[in-house]
Amino acid sequence: MAKKLLLLWFVLIFILIHEPTVDALTRSREEYEKTGHVVWETKTNEKLVAITFDDGPHEVFTPQILDLLAKYDAKATFFVTGKNARLYPEVLKRADAEGHEIGNHTFHHYTNNHMSSTQLSMELDKANDAIAQIIRKKPTLYRPVQGVYNDTIIQTAHKKGLDVIMWSWDQDPLDWQNPRASKIVNHVKKGLSPGDIIILHDWNNSRVSQTVKAIEPILKLLKENNYKCVTVSELMYRTNKPLPDLLDPMPALP
Ligand SMILES: [Zn+2]
Repeated sequence: MAKKLLLLWFVLIFILIHEPTVDALTRSREEYEKTGHVVWETKTNEKLVAITFDDGPHEVFTPQILDLLAKYDAKATFFVTGKNARLYPEVLKRADAEGHEIGNHTFHHYTNNHMSSTQLSMELDKANDAIAQIIRKKPTLYRPVQGVYNDTIIQTAHKKGLDVIMWSWDQDPLDWQNPRASKIVNHVKKGLSPGDIIILHDWNNSRVSQTVKAIEPILKLLKENNYKCVTVSELMYRTNKPLPDLLDPMPALP
């Protein structure tokens, strides 16, 4: 009897140790795009693009970027972390006051791609609260950390009324690696087409930001080619195919 119990005990331990981790389901981009609330880029006949900046605000670089955006009458979207928003509230206030859009990029920027819905929910709420305390409005857009998406991530965001914003696949110059500014500019130039969502980063832990150096040539290039820089929400609003009303309930995934 004792032997049998011991065996049962070992079997139980074995099962517990070897229990496979269940990864959230990831569907194709097309399936998520159909909901109208996960966006990589938009289709538009107008020469419009949305420049987005992730991970800020940064005490030095974000104000420098804001100066340049103002100079070129360009609007952008800043996907900030709640943590950095709290550190530099005045920078966030300025971005909002100057007509830029503020999006949610979670509170801590954890790079754990296997977060549960509850954990992500807390990250999104905490970031939304931190942002709302500073600019008196809650974001309606969310950019997943490292662009990772799956059913859990998307459904959790949608339940909170947050659209999930990715970026055009050919508009990611990997500027966070701080390559030469000319490399960032050329990357944007090469892939440029109306409705693009460009991803850049205003936060960088280097002393010199190549993104800041690249932004003026990029804005010049866009201006010379008659492109207008708008916020992501404006780009979505001006798309050829009207997106679902933001007040409509988010559709459930099939
Ligand atoms: Zn990020």
